Amino acid sequence: MVPNHRRWDFDAVDDIFNTRDRDLIRRIPLSSRVDTDNWFWLPDSKGLYSVRSCYRMLDTLHPPPSSSAWRKLWLLPVPAKVKNFLWRALTNVLPTADNLLQRRVEVQASCPICHTSSETVFHVLVTCPFAKACWISSVLGFNGSCVSFVHWLEDLFSCRNIDDSSLSAMVCWGLWLNRNNKVWNDVNGRVQNVVNSAGQNPFLWQQARKSVFVPPSLDSAAHGSVRWLKPSIGWVKCNVDAAIDNSRGLISFGAVLRSAGGDFIAAKSDILPGSFEAREAEAFGVKEALSWLKEFAFHFVILEMDSLQVFNALNDKVVYPNGFGSIIADCRALAQSLGEVAFSFVRRSANSAAHTVAWVGRSMSGLGEWSLVPPPWLIDALSL
Ligand SMILES: [Zn+2]
Repeated sequence: MVPNHRRWDFDAVDDIFNTRDRDLIRRIPLSSRVDTDNWFWLPDSKGLYSVRSCYRMLDTLHPPPSSSAWRKLWLLPVPAKVKNFLWRALTNVLPTADNLLQRRVEVQASCPICHTSSETVFHVLVTCPFAKACWISSVLGFNGSCVSFVHWLEDLFSCRNIDDSSLSAMVCWGLWLNRNNKVWNDVNGRVQNVVNSAGQNPFLWQQARKSVFVPPSLDSAAHGSVRWLKPSIGWVKCNVDAAIDNSRGLISFGAVLRSAGGDFIAAKSDILPGSFEAREAEAFGVKEALSWLKEFAFHFVILEMDSLQVFNALNDKVVYPNGFGSIIADCRALAQSLGEVAFSFVRRSANSAAHTVAWVGRSMSGLGEWSLVPPPWLIDALSL
């Protein structure tokens, strides 16, 4: 690192490290506040560990032999808890009587619903007379020709479309809930209830997922808009964007500041060394824009960007432990020191002034600053 500056000394890095290590170092963003190194989980975009991301990683490293059924399972549009349940059924780790007895837990071996067979995963979900009645009264029909649950589900997934596969996952889930209700509450379920809720639940779940989340604290009129909108009286708006130049191993950013009347106040562009992904470059752009805004004495600033990933991260309460998270944390700290800063997300078409400055800045040798009078090449973009 450059002494007393929180940035890489790329000349020293180039001298000391081999090409591979050099490229890796150039991708590490440095925090302006935190001194300590920390661990984060690379396969997740937020750097946070989850069982799901671990499973995905292992799946790519060691695909299981019957990978088609497993892959299809993770792609089904059903709630994560249902996928997780089916995964446990496929790996035979559900607490059925046969599994509990193997682990020396004293339970009745027979099925709590029909009392005629021993309770296995395959029995509860497929061959139990109650399960069979559910499959027959659903649109899927009953297939009892397989010898194990894994083969049965593989067979079903291979010849059914995604809707029918999702429905079968929901019927299995309903059968398992019904079985638990019998074991724990001694309630006898009804076939129609299991089948009806299996049909309705994915629909309700998908409806809930489609509703768009808009953070309440933001300029909701401008949020996601396709045209640039003036800020409210008393506020200024700073649009920011970044551009990547991988061939030269640098990024450029552009920021344009305008008044409540929509008049041009100032613009800035600069180049930073580093080989970053788009979201890191965009986050650096926001950070640089916030540093620049400190030079002005505005107390109410809207900082507008067209990167949804950066916008979401800035508004997320979770702290991401990876490099991206450290830039976001720097941005939050800078925003707090400025006064009232509201982050806003717009479509790319509403951010063309900052986009133009970032792209022109990319071809300049260093810092560019314009105040009160916009440069001629920016006038068209300012009118959009
Ligand atoms: Zn049974």
